[in-house]
Amino acid sequence: MVNKGGRPTTNRITVLDIFIGKGKSFSHARLMTILGQNINRVSLYRTLSDLVDAGILNRTMDSNGVLQYYFANGQSDNLPLNPHFKCKNCEQIKALPMLPAAYLNQILSLGHVENTSFFIEGICMKCSK
Ligand SMILES: [Zn+2]
Repeated sequence: MVNKGGRPTTNRITVLDIFIGKGKSFSHARLMTILGQNINRVSLYRTLSDLVDAGILNRTMDSNGVLQYYFANGQSDNLPLNPHFKCKNCEQIKALPMLPAAYLNQILSLGHVENTSFFIEGICMKCSK
């Protein structure tokens, strides 16, 4: 059987290599550009989805409505609602303090939480100089 996307484990390592140490978020389209022929679209979707399910990556919609993936860095427990600051210019991501428990409790009382991360977007100090 020919598997154009490569083995799942290989795909995960290839994809994770891009995220780890960069502190940036990437959209599916951006990852396709970076990976080129190394993975097909469907395999990449599946790999990203697996990594999110495993709590290794987080995903969230940016202000343009594009799904962004970023390294969870051990902050993807069920409860923590952990906002991040994202620079729209250099795309660096910095974790912000977790929201207080009262806030979390109120959210959980409203329904089942599926995406517990969000970005506060702007221009970082470095880029604004
Ligand atoms: Zn910046």
